[in-house]
Amino acid sequence: MIVKPRIRGFICTTAHPRGCAAHVDQQINYVTEHGTASRGAFQNVLVLGCSGGYGLASRIVAGFGCGAKTLGVSFEKAPTENKTASAGWYNNKAFESRAAQQGLYAKTLDGDAFSDAMREQVLATIKADLGKIDLVVYSLASPVRQHPKTDVLHRSSIKPLGEVLDIKTVHVEKGEVSAVALEPATEQEIADTVTVMGGEDWEYWIDALLAEDLLAPNAKTVAYTYIGSELTWPIYWEGTLGKAKADLDRASGEIQQKLQSIGGDARVAVLKAIVSQASAAIPVVPLYAALLFRVMKEQGSHEECIEHIERLFTTQLLSGAHMRLDDSGRIRVDDLELAETVQAEVKRRWPVVDTQNLPELGDLAGFRADFLKIFGFGIEGVDYDAEVDPQRIS
Ligand code: NAD
Repeated sequence: MIVKPRIRGFICTTAHPRGCAAHVDQQINYVTEHGTASRGAFQNVLVLGCSGGYGLASRIVAGFGCGAKTLGVSFEKAPTENKTASAGWYNNKAFESRAAQQGLYAKTLDGDAFSDAMREQVLATIKADLGKIDLVVYSLASPVRQHPKTDVLHRSSIKPLGEVLDIKTVHVEKGEVSAVALEPATEQEIADTVTVMGGEDWEYWIDALLAEDLLAPNAKTVAYTYIGSELTWPIYWEGTLGKAKADLDRASGEIQQKLQSIGGDARVAVLKAIVSQASAAIPVVPLYAALLFRVMKEQGSHEECIEHIERLFTTQLLSGAHMRLDDSGRIRVDDLELAETVQAEVKRRWPVVDTQNLPELGDLAGFRADFLKIFGFGIEGVDYDAEVDPQRIS
């Protein structure tokens, strides 16, 4: 079949097998050329949420930069004869095949990381194949979580708190800037969002690994968060997602205590805004990101996802690294996004940006290109008019 992008709102319902593989290759090549500083830093790495965005980049840096064996967990859709898989399914296949070519262990377990059944499967795989884990990356982003103890299905919301929020946003496909009124979350929606995207599940994972003695001495764990600029705070940091991320901070403290017995370390790492399946769904963020990318590109400080994670590993996660910590003990690698010169310029453009001047003030084209890349489209060297088998990446 010939695969073209089919966009529905903030999701693309098709993914290109060869394009996704080529996108993974681009990231592997970047790390192979730049990421050697972290070689040997980690031996056995567990990545929860390994198939896209920051989790995939972390797995690539761990595998191809550090030379680590990687066990990944993700929730992806397999292809059928006439329907493409989800992008993450192809990414996993590409990662595994490139790792195999280099003699690197890589196994991916596909299923619900929130379930006890998946935890059991992961623990059994670690015992059988790896021994002990020295880095756990927690990079899940999900709209739902079935709680393993109650079986209740919780849905997260992306809403402001307290009152209706009138704020600017952009329709990514049409390029139209407009004002939206976002209804505030109910107490139940806040609680559900914390249950889905907060720190409880991260704690469950570390508890399970500790209980089975599967963490190596001095093991580390890192979970990803976003704080961003005051421009997005009303919908992000001060909204439902921010409440969930505050709970991640709480969990980090709890886990830090538990890891003391093995000399381990638990950190939340604050990352920059990128285009991912998760972030494209957040209102306001695409407009902010379009302005931000333009300004960071103009000022020469823009980083792609893989560059950002490579910097996280080589400057913050290596043993003995001088970590850039904030008052809450979080690792900050969002320093380039939050640099005074960048934020001052984004804030200058924010009140004046409209549909007409967006192409000049912002980089919506870059945002769209990054969005398509997530699904394997627009990657250099891929023939998008060629027939492909949706069940194979080559
Ligand atoms: P993403 O959508 O690209 O990836 C999410 C991953 O979670 C995928 O591998 C997916 O398969 C997996 N997943 C989702 N539900 C699952 C389940 N039930 N079981 C197993 N796997 C499941 O997301 P992302 O943007 O890379 O976000 C990862 C983390 O980084 C999140 O904590 C997010 O808040 C944080 N972060 C993102 C940004 C950003 O701009 N995208 C910025 C800073 C921090």
